Amino acid sequence: MTEGLLTTAYIAASILFILALGGLSNQETARRGNIYGIIGMAIALIATIAGAQVTSYGVVAVCMLIGAVVGIIVASRVQMTAMPELVAILHSLVGLAAVLVGFCNYLDTGHPLTGVEKTIHEVEIYLGVLIGAVTFTGSVIAFGKLSARIGSKPLTLPARHWLNLGLGIICVWLGFVFVGAENPNVGLIALIIMTLIAFLYGVHMVMAIGGADMPVVISMLNSYSGWAAAATGFMLSNDLLIVTGALVGSSGAILSYIMCRAMNRQFLAVIGGGFGTAGGTIADVEGVEQGDVVAISAEETSQLLKDSKNVVIVPGYGMAVAQAQHSVFEITKKLREQGVNVRFGIHPVAGRMPGHMNVLLAEARVPYDIVLEMDEINDDLPDTDVVMVIGANDIVNPSAQTDPASPIAGMPVLEVWKAKTVVVMKRSMATGYAGVQNPLFFEENTRMLFGDAKTSADAISGNI
Ligand code: NDP
Repeated sequence: MTEGLLTTAYIAASILFILALGGLSNQETARRGNIYGIIGMAIALIATIAGAQVTSYGVVAVCMLIGAVVGIIVASRVQMTAMPELVAILHSLVGLAAVLVGFCNYLDTGHPLTGVEKTIHEVEIYLGVLIGAVTFTGSVIAFGKLSARIGSKPLTLPARHWLNLGLGIICVWLGFVFVGAENPNVGLIALIIMTLIAFLYGVHMVMAIGGADMPVVISMLNSYSGWAAAATGFMLSNDLLIVTGALVGSSGAILSYIMCRAMNRQFLAVIGGGFGTAGGTIADVEGVEQGDVVAISAEETSQLLKDSKNVVIVPGYGMAVAQAQHSVFEITKKLREQGVNVRFGIHPVAGRMPGHMNVLLAEARVPYDIVLEMDEINDDLPDTDVVMVIGANDIVNPSAQTDPASPIAGMPVLEVWKAKTVVVMKRSMATGYAGVQNPLFFEENTRMLFGDAKTSADAISGNI
C-alpha cells in the first residue's frame, strides 16, 4: 500500500472513530456509533497490515487468529453483569502492550538515533512504559474488585500518600538516569526498576479506592489505557494509534470528570483513595439493627400500582443480575394502558458501569422519553404515589445525606423515601456494593418485596 493511500485510510478511520464516540453519547444513536467504530477499526487493521512496516504476515496471521478466537469465546460467554470486569481486564492488556512495546523499542530501535531525536524517543518510551505499567496492574486489581475476587473495602496503609509521593519521586529520578544513560545496560536497569515501581503503584492506587469510588476509577483507567495506546503510537511512529489513543484518553478523562460530579467527589480525592472511611476504618454493618421491616406480596404490589396515578421505577444492579428488564417493561406497558403515568429514574452510577441501566432498558425497548436522569426526577418524587426500587441499594440510601460518617456521605442519591410508598425488591437484607446498611428499608412508608427481581416482576405483571 502506498504512503498516500495509508494516510487516507488512517484519516478515514480517525473520522469514523470520532463519529463512533459521537454516536455513543446518545442511546438512540449508540448502535450506529458502534457500527462506525467497527468499520473504522477494520479499515485501520487492513491499512496497517498492508502498510510497509509489516513484513512477516505469518506471525501477524497467527497472532490475529489466537486473539480472534479468544475474543469470540470470551465475548459470547460474558454475562451482561460481568461486562465491567471484561472491560477492566481488556484495559489491562492495553497497558501491558504499551510496556512490552516500550521494552522492545528500547532494545531494538530499528535505526540508531542521536541527539535530540534520541532524547525524545527515550522520553516517549519511558512515559509509555510508566503509564502502561500503572494501567496494567491497576486494571487487574479493578477486575478483581469488580468480580468480587478482591474485597471492595479500601486498603488504607499508614502514610500511603507519602508512599505514593516517594514512589513518584523515585520514578522521576529514574527517568533522568534512563534518558541520560550513556550505557544502554544502565538505561535498561533504570527502566526495569521503574516498571516494577509502576506495577506496585497501580496495585496500591486501586487497592486504596473504596467501593463507592470504583465508577470513577473504571473511567479513569479507561482514560489511562488511551494514553498508554497514544504513547505506543509515538513509539511506533503510528499516527492512527496516537489519534485513537488520544480520543480514548480524553473521552475517558471527560467521563471521569462527569462521574466525579455525579458522585460529588473531587478527582484528586478519588485518586487519594479511602473514600468515606472516617478514621481509616469502614463502617461495620454486620448485625446493625435499625428496626423492623414490613414485607409486601407481589399481589399487594400489583394492587398498589394499579391504584396509583404516578409511578417511578428505580432500577439498580439487582435488575441486571436478575435480567428483569423485559418483565419490568411488561409491568410498565400494562400500567400505561390503564392510564398510570410510569417513568424510570436513573442514577448515574446505578449498576456496575456508566450507562448500565440505560443499556438494559434500551434492550427491553423502553421508550427513551420515560427514562429520566436523577436530577430530572428527584423533584417529582414527593408527588409520586409508588416508587418501585428494583435491585438498587446504594443509589437510594438516605444516609448519604444524613450520616456524615457514612462511607457514601455526600454522594447524591435518588430521594425515593419522599414518595407516598416505596416498594423495594431484593432477595434479602444484604448490603449493596459499598457495603453500607440502608435505613430506607426501615422507613414507615417502605415495603419490602423479597425475592429474585425477575420472579417478583413476573408475579406483579401477572396480577395487573
Ligand atoms: P447496589 O450494589 O448498591 O445494590 C444492588 C442490590 O441488588 C443488592 O443490595 C442486592 O440485594 C440486590 N440484588 C442482587 N441480585 C438480585 C436479584 N437477582 N434480584 C433482586 N435483587 C438483587 O447497586 P446500585 O445499582 O444501587 O448501586 C451501584 C453501586 O455500584 C454503587 O455503590 C456504585 O458506586 C457501584 N459501582 C458502580 C459502577 C458504575 O459505573 N455504575 C462501577 C463500579 C461500582 P440482595 O442480595 O439482598 O438481593
